[in-house]
Amino acid sequence: MKKPVIGVVPLVDKERESLWMLPGYLEGLEAAGALPVILPLTEDRQALVQLMEGLDGLLLTGGQDVAPALYGEEPLPQCGETCPRRDGMEQVLLELALAQDKPVLGICRGIQFLNAALGGTLYQDLPTQRPSDLSHVMTPPYDQPVHGVELVPGSPLEELLGCRTLEVNSYHHQGVKELAPGLEVMARATDGLTEGVWMPEKRFVWAVQWHPEFSWKNQEASRRIFAALVQAAAH
Ligand code: MN
Repeated sequence: MKKPVIGVVPLVDKERESLWMLPGYLEGLEAAGALPVILPLTEDRQALVQLMEGLDGLLLTGGQDVAPALYGEEPLPQCGETCPRRDGMEQVLLELALAQDKPVLGICRGIQFLNAALGGTLYQDLPTQRPSDLSHVMTPPYDQPVHGVELVPGSPLEELLGCRTLEVNSYHHQGVKELAPGLEVMARATDGLTEGVWMPEKRFVWAVQWHPEFSWKNQEASRRIFAALVQAAAH
């Protein structure tokens, strides 16, 4: 049986002028039965159209901050490094995936990008713009949970996991501010921050603020999230 092919957006290290990948994204997908492929970093629309023909689903990975211009803001001093080439590439990939109703899972930057690309806004820097008792920037080991999230009753994530709360890892200084039209919340941190969203109009467009790529080995919930993408991509 052919494995569903999941395109994984490459990570960009500007300092080293390198593209790279955290093995957990690929291993988590492989363990769930997918054939993951790291995509080239390109904004060439025709190339991305051709690439999408061979992909059954997309994984929008973590990475640099989304350019505030995408949601109509000027960057604050606390905004981190951005990556316009990833923003550009992911805008095309997302547009194509939505048009073709192909499954998409966003992780960390992925939930932020999804929300911004669909017309929502982001906190450019949580500590200064949305102070909380809860720290969203953990120290290693990253496979350990550091805060809770509440799963929205009736949401697909609550249905998948069969529980109302989940302990998750956390490594982000930005977050969803105003939710984009078309998205629904499926998980909130205990401080109220949106940490999981989905798109009811589509077969499978999900995104989480936490990092299943770090926790899939020791957390069943993380494995199930990867498996949900792969299962959707297999149909
Ligand atoms: Mn968090």
